[in-house]
Amino acid sequence: MRERHHFDGQQLLAQLREWARDLGLSQIAVAGVDLDTAEEGLHDWLSKGFHGTMHYMQRHGSKRARPAELVPGTVSVITARMDYLPRATAPGWQALEWQRLRSPQQAVVSVYARGRDYHKVLRTRLQALAERLAQQVGPLGARVFTDSAPVLEVELAVRSGLGWRGKHTLALQRDGGSMFFLGEIFVDLALPQTPPAAAHCGSCSACIDVCPTQAIVAPYRLDARRCISYLTIEHDGAIAPELRPLLGNRIYGCDDCQLVCPWNKYARVSSLSDFDPRPALDGATLLQLWAWDEAEFLRRTEGSAIRRIGHVRWQRNLAVALGNALRSAPDAEIERALRARLGSAGELLAEHIDWALSQIKTALPVPPATAAG
Ligand code: SF4
Ligand code: SF4
Repeated sequence: MRERHHFDGQQLLAQLREWARDLGLSQIAVAGVDLDTAEEGLHDWLSKGFHGTMHYMQRHGSKRARPAELVPGTVSVITARMDYLPRATAPGWQALEWQRLRSPQQAVVSVYARGRDYHKVLRTRLQALAERLAQQVGPLGARVFTDSAPVLEVELAVRSGLGWRGKHTLALQRDGGSMFFLGEIFVDLALPQTPPAAAHCGSCSACIDVCPTQAIVAPYRLDARRCISYLTIEHDGAIAPELRPLLGNRIYGCDDCQLVCPWNKYARVSSLSDFDPRPALDGATLLQLWAWDEAEFLRRTEGSAIRRIGHVRWQRNLAVALGNALRSAPDAEIERALRARLGSAGELLAEHIDWALSQIKTALPVPPATAAG
């Protein structure tokens, strides 16, 4: 059996950082495996049902807060951040995003999902980093995770200094905002832990105030059942009618709590072409996307994270947004397009189309496309 080589922890960490940079990762850090103090908060969040129908959140039980149980032998977790703002993002990009949210017929897809599926992009790079590490130290047990339910990603990121936990519950940094993905490599190698970063939310509560559905029920506490990201991506089935008007024209995810965060003026642009937006997902109208049949949906979303939600959920989201557009101003073309789909729609979609059509006569105020910009 091959022996592990002797190594100096700090030198190895410096080397890891260099490799990570070469691989297009924005930053790496190291956390330990003792997340005891996070376990209680996790159980409390689950017991209140804030995870909605994301039953996979519960499935791994305590293992989620115990990396060494999830992957036996783990003694360190290498945490990684990858910035995802598209390369062509202009300074003050938030103003354009607010503008889109104020244009009821525009389709708004969360910024992170407009390019290639980040799971693949990040996973490949973390895997390559693990391989380089194995070449350096000898036999290595390593397992890569990206946006993975069994892992307390933000907790690990925060403990290792990739940022602090914002009141919106995401990790953020003073010089990098929050527009980044997180990933981890669980290793059976003792690496020097990197220190946590100080928190800088202070008395700010902009993310809580701006949230269209009031999903941030208290600082650092998210009720996923009300969050538009959850409702449009994770949630299968009908969207609660009282929440539908609040979705506005957000058809996949929601960025509002990040758009309003003052630290995102320091968000970094990706160096990778992978996150360049696909034209169809950046600036399209709701009606253009509504016209996609399933075959076109699959073709257009090949290699994109959006494909995972499937055509039915995609159309459900669009129907809600079209209903919201109709409420803001009558539009014969939208009405025709909705009616045309009724005959072929399954039960779930048909109900959302009926709701959308019923908005024509509803004199509700248009939910604010809030805040700045
Ligand atoms: S993603 Fe949107 S809905 Fe969810 S907490 Fe943030 S602002 Fe609220
Ligand atoms: S908007 Fe304010 S409270 Fe929310 S994460 Fe950013 S700094 Fe913290």
